[in-house]
Amino acid sequence: MVSKNHKKIGKLTVIAGPMFSGKTGKLVALVEVFTRMGHKVLTVKPAIDSRYSKNEIYSHDHRKTPALVVDGLSPDHIIDAITQQGVDKVIFDEVQFFDKEKVLEIIRKLKKLGIHVIASGLMYDYMRKPFGATPELMGLADERLELMAVCQKCGNLARHSERVRGGKFQVDVGAADKYIAVCERCHKIYK
Ligand SMILES: [Zn+2]
Repeated sequence: MVSKNHKKIGKLTVIAGPMFSGKTGKLVALVEVFTRMGHKVLTVKPAIDSRYSKNEIYSHDHRKTPALVVDGLSPDHIIDAITQQGVDKVIFDEVQFFDKEKVLEIIRKLKKLGIHVIASGLMYDYMRKPFGATPELMGLADERLELMAVCQKCGNLARHSERVRGGKFQVDVGAADKYIAVCERCHKIYK
């Protein structure tokens, strides 16, 4: 018989895929389902992603959900800000934009507190290199969901995001104005 006193440990779910694979829409749907089930959910997003709105996450199809925007705070401050809300599920949107070591520490600690963490992000940058904490989180995940987009050049399944406009920094936030989804064969590195 399982002891009722055993320590509750949260789990980690990772949702990864290229741009235009429906990650944010999936998150918005999850928030709706979890909320209807009686869970308290909070979405955390990096300040860097201001494409649509500061305090909400928006999917490309314009559905939205409230979010906590964090920037430059220490891991303990971020954990405090999260636990103060009394939530049992925390979603990290665009997890590749967070400082890698910091977000890994935060997620590890949240799990220890019994919180279910859902992290969503890009696996690869525009050079097909691992992007931020996403690949490592994928390895640590209790549940994994890899989403695909459709290659905008050949119509096959797409795993990569190709930059078509902008600079050469790894982080250059944009949507259809700067990126397309492509398969590995069609992918070209922006120069
Ligand atoms: Zn292709």
